[in-house]
Amino acid sequence: MLFITCADSRVDPNLVTQSRPGELFIVRNVGNIVPPHDAVMDKNSVAAALEFAVSVLKVADIIICGHSNCGAMKSLYQDESELANLPHLKEWITLAAPVKSHVERYYPEITGEKKERITEKENILEQLRNIETYPFASKALRENSIYLHGWYYDIGKGEILSYNPSTDKFERTLSSKYFAANKQLPAGVE
Ligand SMILES: [Zn+2]
Repeated sequence: MLFITCADSRVDPNLVTQSRPGELFIVRNVGNIVPPHDAVMDKNSVAAALEFAVSVLKVADIIICGHSNCGAMKSLYQDESELANLPHLKEWITLAAPVKSHVERYYPEITGEKKERITEKENILEQLRNIETYPFASKALRENSIYLHGWYYDIGKGEILSYNPSTDKFERTLSSKYFAANKQLPAGVE
């Protein structure tokens, strides 16, 4: 299993998945972001890990696990000046800019913490879509040899929600094999 999650210290992949050493191939970065195939052509560590997991380890499941109170997602709404001294972070977070546009378009009335929670969840779906931009991943999805899963770790409640495309919601029940070949992720979640 490939587990892609945030660098946040409160997220412990082995704890979250109740797995042991040897069971998870883990990618962590600020905001659990998968750069789209055409965004970072060279020296893209996420792409390298994704390629290795799919083509060599032949993992069956790929999980993107976002979480509540994610500073990376919050920073999408900060003024440019607040990130002026953090050029690397600022540049990295621009990869999630489509999430911000999406939230502002589909949830124009929502503000504050609720907006942050929606952004965290929409970011999970955006990064799942980004996985599909890699030809080897899209081929594996077509062949049903990999399945994509979106998880949301609510740190305060200590619970995991998983995205169910049939209800378009993040739900408590964990079930697998959510994403069949070419299955389009819907536009909005709550
Ligand atoms: Zn985070």
